[in-house]
Amino acid sequence: MSKELKDFASLCEKIRERGFLTSNDKENLQKFFGERAERALELVFLNRVKKYKFMPSNITFWVVVGKTNEYLVIPESNFCTCDDFLFSFFKGEQPFCSHLIAQRIAEALGEIEEIAESDDYYTSLIDEFVSIK
Ligand SMILES: [Zn+2]
Repeated sequence: MSKELKDFASLCEKIRERGFLTSNDKENLQKFFGERAERALELVFLNRVKKYKFMPSNITFWVVVGKTNEYLVIPESNFCTCDDFLFSFFKGEQPFCSHLIAQRIAEALGEIEEIAESDDYYTSLIDEFVSIK
């Protein structure tokens, strides 16, 4: 894990314990991620971070609703399906995007919309993310 990622993880831990964001947190986020931090905070406060829970399989996954698209975010693997993420990923850089940042901050703050769905819906949603358009 890069130092940037570690610092971000410990910042999220502090946010989780405190339960809210301070202006100091916001400054740190800007230092880590620049403009991406601003976009991430916007996504958090517009409640664009959604956690889907499927039954009966008990599968959960995260979707972040951007301006024009929805993105599948896999925080455990530090992965997102957006162009910004994939571009740096394939360039061999440490990939990060506003959606991944937003997911982590939203989870730390508990600012999440949880959506329960049946497994049938899971299949159609996954199709949307993996099919070539
Ligand atoms: Zn993304």
